Amino acid sequence: MTTKGKNSLCIHEGEIKDTQFGGAVSPIFMASSYPFLDVDQNRYPRNFNTPNQEVVAKKVAALENAEAGLSFGSGMAAIATALLAFLKAGDHAIFPNAIYGGTYNFVVKEFPQYGIEYDFTDGVAPSDFEAKIKKNTKVIYLETPSNPLLTITDIKSVATLAKNKGLITMIDNTFASPFNQTPIDLGIDIVMHSATKYLGGHSDILAGVVVGTMDHIQKVKLKGINFGGNLSDFMAYLLERSIKTLAVRVKRHNENAQILAAYLEKKSEIKKVYYPGLKSHTGHEIAKEQMHGFGGMMSFELDDNLDAVAFQKALNMIKPSLSLAGVESTILLPTLTSHSLMSQEDRKKTGINDHLLRFSVGIEDVEDIKGDLDQAIKSIS
Ligand SMILES: *Cc1c(COP(=O)(O)O)cnc(C)c1O
Repeated sequence: MTTKGKNSLCIHEGEIKDTQFGGAVSPIFMASSYPFLDVDQNRYPRNFNTPNQEVVAKKVAALENAEAGLSFGSGMAAIATALLAFLKAGDHAIFPNAIYGGTYNFVVKEFPQYGIEYDFTDGVAPSDFEAKIKKNTKVIYLETPSNPLLTITDIKSVATLAKNKGLITMIDNTFASPFNQTPIDLGIDIVMHSATKYLGGHSDILAGVVVGTMDHIQKVKLKGINFGGNLSDFMAYLLERSIKTLAVRVKRHNENAQILAAYLEKKSEIKKVYYPGLKSHTGHEIAKEQMHGFGGMMSFELDDNLDAVAFQKALNMIKPSLSLAGVESTILLPTLTSHSLMSQEDRKKTGINDHLLRFSVGIEDVEDIKGDLDQAIKSIS
């Protein structure tokens, strides 16, 4: 493992030297055909081993302090492949109740077809995970900070609990990014990202990443070769380019979000702000322990008499957007979008209501973002 700092890793780790022309950046190798070397060693895009795919895998693995990694064509391809690499018919897995909508949908729609059992926790405390462990439990899955309420799970405690029981732990580290949180240092086995978000960062890439030990990644790779959800070399090149600025981008996301969360919390028109960097957040103390920064994601709830749809329409610079973690500030209503697939009853249990807005804080001038929020609140009050 490398000893370079994160800024240097973002820029240099895994890069391909251009030996032909001496160019400053990794060349793109688009070939889908390479010479036959030996069984298991042949380069082929579906084998996760083209030069550009390997750059991304090495970069993210280094940033996550992991031994190895794989790149995928989407976050869901990464998550689905990793889950099915460690779960088979008759096994049981535990998921937090606060979880990305797509993952929730994958579990409830696909698992029954594979004969895999699952439970969602009632809360995100380690004891909530422990309470769901059964004889056939194989995997504990974490997502912290979670989407959309930024709930925080004590990673180290759950990882220790799982280790003692011989269970595999997996975490969706998308919201934190490897700059703000490195779960492998806390005992997690498998770390996954929707690289569509902070790793990509410019709202123009769909990609996913899985990292872990050599052994674990080999297992995911064998499953992935069968499912074929690989990242194209062109996208791998774009993702490498994006990750070069991850450290500076995330630093700015963190700074802007902290300022805006504190600002919104003081406003009378805002009922509640969910941001792990706020002392008022239930997970603040744990977040302080396990995160290197609090991230650029937050949610806030408008007062009952204010219409969230009208608020969203009144914004000028902040864009309504399904996705998140781009350099531009974006906002959405979870009940109409990311969590529309979740049943009304399950939404209620997790505290997602019609007044809640998920806010992805961009890296614009913080005064401009503040100004846009202000004028929108005024215009609907
Ligand atoms: C977006 C997202 C995913 C899914 O990633 P895709 O790249 O859209 O497939 C998974 N987890 C979280 C937390 C996300 O935000």
